Amino acid sequence: MAGNPLTMLSQSESKALKIHDLVKAPANAPWAQERKNSWDARYPATVYYTPETLADGTPTTALTVILRTKGCHWWWSSGCTFCGYFNDTRDDVTSEDLHSQWEFSLAKFDDLDTMGMIKVYTSGSLLEDREIPVDFQERVLKDCHEMGKELVVESRTEQMSEEKLAWATKINPKFSVAIGLEAYDDEVLRFHVNKGFSIKSWDRAVENLQKFGLRVKTYLMFKPPFMSEGDAVVHTAKWIRDVAERSDEISVNPMNIQRGTVIDRLYRANEYRPPWLWSLIRLIEDVHHDIHPSDAGNGADDQVSRLIIHPTAGGKTRGAHNCGKCDAEVVGAIERYSVSGDLLELEGLDCDCKQVWQQEVTLDNSIPVPLGVGLNRRGDALAHLRSP
Ligand code: SF4
Ligand SMILES: [Zn+2]
Repeated sequence: MAGNPLTMLSQSESKALKIHDLVKAPANAPWAQERKNSWDARYPATVYYTPETLADGTPTTALTVILRTKGCHWWWSSGCTFCGYFNDTRDDVTSEDLHSQWEFSLAKFDDLDTMGMIKVYTSGSLLEDREIPVDFQERVLKDCHEMGKELVVESRTEQMSEEKLAWATKINPKFSVAIGLEAYDDEVLRFHVNKGFSIKSWDRAVENLQKFGLRVKTYLMFKPPFMSEGDAVVHTAKWIRDVAERSDEISVNPMNIQRGTVIDRLYRANEYRPPWLWSLIRLIEDVHHDIHPSDAGNGADDQVSRLIIHPTAGGKTRGAHNCGKCDAEVVGAIERYSVSGDLLELEGLDCDCKQVWQQEVTLDNSIPVPLGVGLNRRGDALAHLRSP
């Protein structure tokens, strides 16, 4: 790559780059600005429906509404290393636009009556006043409560103050908040993700959510930038155990590469390979008995949390993938496990590539190569070995 390579060890006399500058650069590029200004702010980014499960375990259909917003306030000042949401935002979205997006979304499918859940995603935090006008926050909370739909919103941790939650629960007493925690580890949050909050902040947010009887959904990122495959397998299992008691649901998101992000840059320089699907199988086998102590599957009384893994772009080179031959079968098994919570879904999976993966993980965990030995990361081997 021309210019400044993004490596952990500076290979020239020039100063190492800051992650912050690398995160921001693509968002200001002409292609990104042009795309941004091309969106019609009266329409949502996407509206679709999927099978889901209500809080009490009943199967239902969920309407997912992805609104076109001004984006995330953390992105305005810095941003996470893998976040490509800036691709979907527009700087001048007004409250009126949001109301019309919402009306369009609710009217899109005739069978809204049969859907028990609505997920409202904003490429940021719904309850953040700088991003979303308060009157629109109120509209979403109120409409979902009045229609009797379970509402799921996404948020960072800072918005989950007692004051804000007291206000929101007066309008809608029971909703779920999904927080992109990514990692229960301050070092990873700071140096790999550039998350802009700490685990303490998540602890506080969850305490407040529980005080108001709201459901907690936790997103964890599998294999953030600058992490080896072997480390991802070990760390993510630990994070799941750390947050399980306090999360109604844990959704593990295997890294998928979005355009214009730091991880995209690493990926295109052959310095990062999205996770192996085998790693996700290993992860499930590792934590299953912590989540389901009596092995009774999803919905059982003793279930500590619900573990969901949907490999976005699974089997594609920009998503979690194996060799290409076994991908569909392994993705299918992971998806089925997310529904049933039954280890039997994973029985009988095998492929020649499993040995290659196994070797990589074993080496990652036994020799000091911080970025891992993965073959797709074809940088200067000597420089990788010298990485501090
Ligand atoms: S907090 Fe969420 S929306 Fe904001 S930059 Fe990070 S990943 Fe993107
Ligand atoms: Zn294979």
